[in-house]
Amino acid sequence: MIREAVILAAGLGSRLKERTAQKPKGFLELGGVPIVEWSVQKLIGAGVERIIIGTGWRREAYEALAAKYRIIETVYNPDFAETGSLRTLICCAERIRHDFFLLESDLIYDSAALFALANDRRADITLVSGPTESGDEVWLSANAEGVLTAANKDRAALASACGELVGISKLSPALLAALRASEETERAAQPKADYESALAASGVVAALKIERLAWQEIDDERHFRRAETETLPRILENERLRAVRREVLLNPGPATTSDAVKYAQVCPDICPRESEFGEVMRWITDELSALVCAAGKADGIETVLFGGSGTAADEVMISSCVPDGAKLLIVDNGAYGARFAQIAASYRLPHEVFQSSGFKPLDVPALKKRLVDGGFTHLAIVYHETTTGLLNPAPEICRFCHERGVTTIVDAVSAFAALPIDMDADCFDFMASTSNKNIQGMAGCAFVFCRKSALERTAAYPMRSYYLNLWDQYAHFKKTGQTRFTPPVQTLYALRQAIIETKVETIAGRMKRYSDCWETLVAAIERLGLRMLVPKEAQSRLITAIIEPDSPRYSFETLHDLSRAHGWTIYPGKLSGASTFRIANIGGIQVEEMRLWTELLARYMETL
Ligand code: PLP
Ligand code: MG
Ligand code: MG
Repeated sequence: MIREAVILAAGLGSRLKERTAQKPKGFLELGGVPIVEWSVQKLIGAGVERIIIGTGWRREAYEALAAKYRIIETVYNPDFAETGSLRTLICCAERIRHDFFLLESDLIYDSAALFALANDRRADITLVSGPTESGDEVWLSANAEGVLTAANKDRAALASACGELVGISKLSPALLAALRASEETERAAQPKADYESALAASGVVAALKIERLAWQEIDDERHFRRAETETLPRILENERLRAVRREVLLNPGPATTSDAVKYAQVCPDICPRESEFGEVMRWITDELSALVCAAGKADGIETVLFGGSGTAADEVMISSCVPDGAKLLIVDNGAYGARFAQIAASYRLPHEVFQSSGFKPLDVPALKKRLVDGGFTHLAIVYHETTTGLLNPAPEICRFCHERGVTTIVDAVSAFAALPIDMDADCFDFMASTSNKNIQGMAGCAFVFCRKSALERTAAYPMRSYYLNLWDQYAHFKKTGQTRFTPPVQTLYALRQAIIETKVETIAGRMKRYSDCWETLVAAIERLGLRMLVPKEAQSRLITAIIEPDSPRYSFETLHDLSRAHGWTIYPGKLSGASTFRIANIGGIQVEEMRLWTELLARYMETL
């Protein structure tokens, strides 16, 4: 797993004349996308958390790219015109904390190149290809152990060449420190030093030869044409062959995931007790916490991971966050509020239920009155009732609770990572979610977000469940960097990738995409004369309960099977007493896919 990348992008690209007069070489477009953006997307897909771009010539273009992709940082080499690529790399050095990919900005490549490097046990390694006849080759030579000994554009200057430099490497912070030290001593004598010569001179960088790797550097007009007609089509075909058949899940989770999330699970076997895996879990919990608070306030939030589904997180909260003698009120206006009550009952935990309609907005004044009159100390509420798509005003109610010292327990299983949540401002003390809904990862990991002050109070509460105990799991992780029991290893790798993709899209961007899908769906429902169970204003925009068509020929199974045959999965209704089916628009779904499904629905409606 390689967490960081550096892209060297300071150069002038003068051989491409008018194509790069106004923009750096990385912004040459192929298939309508700048080549550096192809590279950025591949790095994200390979699980890179931070991309550092070393800029010089026309740096504004890269700064605009960094504004678009929040995981990009730029570092300016002010001497770019008088220095070589090694100097730009050294400018980036202090941002690097882990093993990293090093790439040139003017490359297109098959993403298998990144997999091959990450998958290799050796720490410092550069990709070498067979002959490309580009006319601008950097030839490499290596010793009998496969370690680079020289790099030169003049092949005759090398005793024997093992192949061509691709311009993609994997390097360690230790090597970077050594390069930095030698660059400083030789800077005055060799201001134009290139990084590949420094790699060869280090005596520790191994060559990884891939004879027929699909890749190309673009330095001149001929290279550009060849990239368009030959290399990019080859790369795209290779990548298409590895794409997983698309299934669009219109059920409310597990949701549609990206291929990068699926492939993140395919990694070397690892014992989760290794500190390397503990570091993965630490990163996940920190990043999850950061997603539920205003920027810079994450230190007040702790996220605790459990193996299990969303219900496990609900059960953790009910069993661990209510002390003996407390008065717990549970809001039930759907299946998940009812489940809270079932969990409390199964622990024989005294509680009362505030019952409300599954499709009408909650009567907030009545709920507030009940809270006060009943002298409750704890409130449990579902933020988004997935049963019908009804959105509860959880922040308003929880703020009211906090003014009165009432602890709040929130099921945000289907709200988190779509609705904007700030645990502090929203006054949520404990909040549950899962890896397989809006965060767009795989099933198997449940998490409880906690306000630290509230979490610390639970240390003294009775341990009602052995496995699902919040304080023990938290305290053990804090002390050892491990979960108490075997974590869902591959699900966590997928969750890590899903978090990276969430940071790139942003939660606001994700909610906008979900909302656009919902509007497309609702427009079709209205066009077809169908009705929705919940009034539009009270809906979450994440799932829609649609009242079944009033025709004796209607069959959910037929509509389901028809949809499934074309790559969509739809979901039955859940509220007893109302005949509905449900369409969720969460996960990696695109507006066009939702539109295509509504066309299929329209064709089905014609048969009724
Ligand atoms: N809470 C809510 C609001 C949900 O939507 C769901 C599942 O859809 C759950 C809890 C339970 O999650 P799981 O099925 O993963 O146990
Ligand atoms: Mg070149
Ligand atoms: Mg070049």
